[in-house]
Amino acid sequence: MEVINSAKEIVERIAVLKSLGKTIGFVPTMGALHDGHFSLISKSLSQVDITICSIFVNPTQFNNADDLLKYPRTLADDCNGLEKAGCHIVFTPTIEEIYPGGADNFKVDLPLNGLDAKMEGEHRPGHFEGVVQVVKRLLDIVTPERLFMGQKDFQQFTIIRYMIDQLKIPTKLVVCETLREEDGLAMSSRNRRLTNEHRQDAAVIYRVLNQAKVWIDSKSIAEIEKKAMDYLNIPGFKPEYFTIINGHNLETIDSIVDVKEIVACTAVWAGDVRLIDNMILKN
Ligand code: AMP
Repeated sequence: MEVINSAKEIVERIAVLKSLGKTIGFVPTMGALHDGHFSLISKSLSQVDITICSIFVNPTQFNNADDLLKYPRTLADDCNGLEKAGCHIVFTPTIEEIYPGGADNFKVDLPLNGLDAKMEGEHRPGHFEGVVQVVKRLLDIVTPERLFMGQKDFQQFTIIRYMIDQLKIPTKLVVCETLREEDGLAMSSRNRRLTNEHRQDAAVIYRVLNQAKVWIDSKSIAEIEKKAMDYLNIPGFKPEYFTIINGHNLETIDSIVDVKEIVACTAVWAGDVRLIDNMILKN
């Protein structure tokens, strides 16, 4: 596996690979890799010739300085894992490589059309501007045929799909299912920061999502959202939102009539660790 940290170098390397007719798959990450990330690598390996993974903790998507500071960084382990997973190239740039002269030089002028109005956008102001900015910059550098992202971040991939469409970027987005621990907790780099007790209790999130899937046929949306928030309100946990949306446009819904894809999305604080998850209730 090649490890490249210069943007110029990876651009040159990719030009050579493309001149040889190789197709490129790209998995952007912030590191502290787990099996969820490696499943994206496997998916890419099965669909394209060359798989590139980036590890970059993007400061512009953190609205909370403490969260950025505490974000786990495990580069050596990540590279070992990627090598074992069969990844071809890992791109590990510095902030200066991604944003030479400052991040303001790389603002993306793309109104998000309300896609960022609710859920993560509401609770993490500026988060999606940062995500759009970094993914656009990485796509400009890597120019992949395919981009692999997780369903785990439902609002994120929906916004990136919108960006790709609006900016007519010639990359196909492939959304990959959420990998979970045995008890159902969605794998996340943040899970390693949970206390043992919170880790055990965190399976409540998956249980509530499953419960919502049962409730959707018999209870109103408002009732499900309220019951789910109550259910998540266990000692040490603070649910931030539990919202049922139309998966196509991320709009909140009052009823399931005529909605093709119904998704429940939630964010919960477990101590000082913020966890998100979602489940498609109907499609
Ligand atoms: P992150 O490093 O958390 O920014 O995530 C990088 C990519 O991995 C994103 O596309 C995530 O949606 C995806 N991802 C994170 N956790 C999981 C998971 N448990 N299963 C599948 N994909 C995931």
